[in-house]
Amino acid sequence: MLEDNMTVKELQTYIKTIDHKPELKMQVMLKLVEEVGELSVEIRRELTEGLTEKLKQNIKYELYDILHFVNHIANIYDIDLVNAIQEKDEINKIKYDRKEEKQ
Ligand SMILES: [Mg+2]
Repeated sequence: MLEDNMTVKELQTYIKTIDHKPELKMQVMLKLVEEVGELSVEIRRELTEGLTEKLKQNIKYELYDILHFVNHIANIYDIDLVNAIQEKDEINKIKYDRKEEKQ
């Protein structure tokens, strides 16, 4: 079981230990797209079935599947996701004229 307070860096390292296939880069990318599609199916299901605990659990699991493949792709390209978050957030702050928010 992973720790409750695990960091982005720890998750990225963990994913590399359980799933790292640089030779399957394109398939990994397609898996990410597939998982986004699965999340879409679950969210669309709310329109007809309403939001149930089971549906919310499915959405939770699909979000993790997406995170898994995002981390996998970052590892394939040797990209530090913490650094990506920091740099891109600064870029977005300017791009969207976002002010610093109080914590
Ligand atoms: Mg899935």
